[in-house]
Amino acid sequence: MIQEQMKNVEEKICRACERSGRKRDEVTLIAVSKTKPIEDLKEAYACGARFFGENKVQEITEKYPQMPADVQWHMIGHLQRNKVKYIVDKIALIHSVDSLRLAQTIQTEAEKHQVTVPILLEVNVAEEESKFGVSVAETFSLAQQISSLPNVHIEGLMTIAPYVDEPEENRWIFKKMKQLSIDIRQKNIDNVDMYVLSMGMTGDYEVAIEEGATMVRVGTGIFGSRNYSF
Ligand SMILES: *Cc1c(COP(=O)(O)O)cnc(C)c1O
Repeated sequence: MIQEQMKNVEEKICRACERSGRKRDEVTLIAVSKTKPIEDLKEAYACGARFFGENKVQEITEKYPQMPADVQWHMIGHLQRNKVKYIVDKIALIHSVDSLRLAQTIQTEAEKHQVTVPILLEVNVAEEESKFGVSVAETFSLAQQISSLPNVHIEGLMTIAPYVDEPEENRWIFKKMKQLSIDIRQKNIDNVDMYVLSMGMTGDYEVAIEEGATMVRVGTGIFGSRNYSF
């Protein structure tokens, strides 16, 4: 099943790239494997998946040693400061930084491990109260503040769009994210890049790609629905 789903997602990514005149290699597919058993991750790996997204520190530390070393782990969920130390040397990218305090903790732990940690700023474009993330208006100043941390490198922006029945309803959000990344890039802040736009999930990744996503995070579309009762 995972193999078929992966093929299906891959085809949809290709078509969305074609429609928007983009190259397939401009878009990275993150297989969101949260709550899924290691067998499922191995099956996805066998089908070519190399980028896995998780939203809990404990799941990353459990799954990390069980998967091949060429897997890239992406932290996509809210990150508590006291847990940064467990993953700072294991993750390829933290998608969910939304405060200077969290970035400072990442700096401290990154320095201890002598690594530089790539991060994205999580933006709450729709300003949903239930969501983490900074507002569009606050994003530039947060980027500026974090830019002074030598072991933290901002590579771009991430957003979690609202759950909607019709993916077109989220198009404005993806457009706004793209514009925000262009605006911040134009300010030329030292140590801040804007080449990653992490947006689009199972329900809306094709629209996100059409609007410039460079990373899409697909869980259900690859692994099937999640069971949170375990
Ligand atoms: C769970 C999750 C996803 C994947 O959601 P699906 O709708 O299953 O594709 C993507 N991004 C984040 C931040 C998530 O927590």
